[in-house]
Amino acid sequence: MKRLQQTLSRIDGKGYKAYKDLQGEYHFPRFQLFIDYVQGDPFAAPSRVRVRMPQSEAKYRSKWYDTPHRKVALEDWIARVWTKKANRYSFRVKGTGKSGLIRVDQPGQEILNRTAVVVTKEYVEVRVTVGLPAQGRRVLGRKAEDMLCDYLVRLVDEAIPAESIDPKGVEERMKLVDNQQGIRQYLKKNGWIAFVANGSVLPRKSGVSDQPLQGNHVVKFQAPQSLEDVVEVPHGPPIRGMVIRDGITLIVGGGYHGKSTLLNALERGVYDHIAGDGREYVITDTDAVKVRAEDGRRVEKVNISPFINNLPFGRDTIRFSTEDASGSTSQATNIMESLEMGASCLLIDEDTSATNFMIRDGRMQKLVAKGKEPITPFIDKVRQLYENMGTSSILVLGGSGDYFDVADTVIMMDEYLPYEVTQRAKEVAQAQSNNRVREGGEAFGDVTPRSILANGFDPRKGKKEKVDAKGLHSIQFGTETVDLSGVEQLVDVSQTRAIAEIMRLIGKKANGQKSLRELIEDVYQTIEKKDLDVISPFQGQHPGDLALPRKEEVAAAINRLRTLKVQ
Ligand code: ADP
Ligand code: MG
Repeated sequence: MKRLQQTLSRIDGKGYKAYKDLQGEYHFPRFQLFIDYVQGDPFAAPSRVRVRMPQSEAKYRSKWYDTPHRKVALEDWIARVWTKKANRYSFRVKGTGKSGLIRVDQPGQEILNRTAVVVTKEYVEVRVTVGLPAQGRRVLGRKAEDMLCDYLVRLVDEAIPAESIDPKGVEERMKLVDNQQGIRQYLKKNGWIAFVANGSVLPRKSGVSDQPLQGNHVVKFQAPQSLEDVVEVPHGPPIRGMVIRDGITLIVGGGYHGKSTLLNALERGVYDHIAGDGREYVITDTDAVKVRAEDGRRVEKVNISPFINNLPFGRDTIRFSTEDASGSTSQATNIMESLEMGASCLLIDEDTSATNFMIRDGRMQKLVAKGKEPITPFIDKVRQLYENMGTSSILVLGGSGDYFDVADTVIMMDEYLPYEVTQRAKEVAQAQSNNRVREGGEAFGDVTPRSILANGFDPRKGKKEKVDAKGLHSIQFGTETVDLSGVEQLVDVSQTRAIAEIMRLIGKKANGQKSLRELIEDVYQTIEKKDLDVISPFQGQHPGDLALPRKEEVAAAINRLRTLKVQ
């Protein structure tokens, strides 16, 4: 600490670059400070430091981090405590640009594995970004001393030791994530897809906020009796709610009655949510994938032949490529790519689907002969998809009753409450034939794994590698921009940054041998064996603000790289 003060007083008033002298390791009474990276000027990306407190000071109970999901939940908890407490100190020091900033990567409504905090048997480490203070481009040494030797020290005391982080709250958090894990295991054991607890609050505050909708017009979720189940959980009384089993589930109902809201909650249920979110007991199988139409996307040698055949000019659909997919071909591609990654369930909303991909009714079949229609609609494949491939579907459909024939379960949303109407839907289907014939053959068709090539996978921009997230739905990869706006289950920009890093790693491993899925699984095995830091080029230092994405979203990003080349 002394040495830090000495350096700061020596460089006070000098040019900003003098801050580089700070890089290194410093001992404080209760923790170590690592200054890993010093920003080049007060406006550049802030400096990266780590504070590491030994467990002899932090005194965490080992049961707070003895299983992977508890460890993630604890680390997330500390990032939140830090964020809250840091508000008091951040920007207390004023100056040019980012001067005075003290922050960690702030979690949203989901509990994700992130690099922001690491808890081990030996220590607790928080990865902090700081804006070293400057007046113009001059070092403000005194103020830097206030920041690093006073505010930071106080913040560490307020946000790391067990007694400061609300140990009772931590215990509650542990119970919550144990229960979430319990429900996940229960679903897995039965081969089911999703669970929505009674009392859940599904709607969000607005289209741009992920906070729960509040007020007395909010209708809490209540399972219909016929679909209600009771799940035993490790802590507290069993939890009641609606189970969505494997197979084909329709969500029907009038416009504005809450269909999409339910599906959105299911999409997010692949992640665990914090207490108070309203969706903490909305749990969906981790490999459920939202698929939608995404016209304009690029496609590289994907086998879409289960859905699309006999294109004009004899274009190949077993290895289908295009720079500009249509609504239906993009939706077919999104499904086939999800199946390549092993999707357990497809989540589809009519609002974001291509109509001609979803349905082709009896009259249209009579007018346009099958020989003239390249598309086999999803309705003729959805059962085979389940029966041949084991992949379930949950579909939001307000406009087409043709699906009554193929559904296992029909849920009707009525004024934001679900009712089971399977029986009635089947009766309607019997009484009123839809006069359509099944198309597309008896079997689903093939899912063809693809091997990707290293060329066309270039993270360089000029001489330097440049990969980063440009917001939640965009990645810069070398000179390419990858558009992820159709990838709806991405929830945190730190996930996007992590995907960019994983793409960089995979580009180096791609050799036309392993399939895309194998390459991605290899990276996840390494992450599991070591930790999330391994994907960062700064491993061993502050690794940057990263959060673990799903494999599905990594694949989605690679598949949308416009230079991607497949063997
Ligand atoms: P649909 O897809 O059936 O047309 P949405 O799911 O888009 O309907 O919901 C329509 C509106 O109702 C949205 O603004 C949503 O926030 C609101 N909403 C959805 N569920 C609830 C609920 N349980 N309580 C109150 N408002 C809700
Ligand atoms: Mg809708």
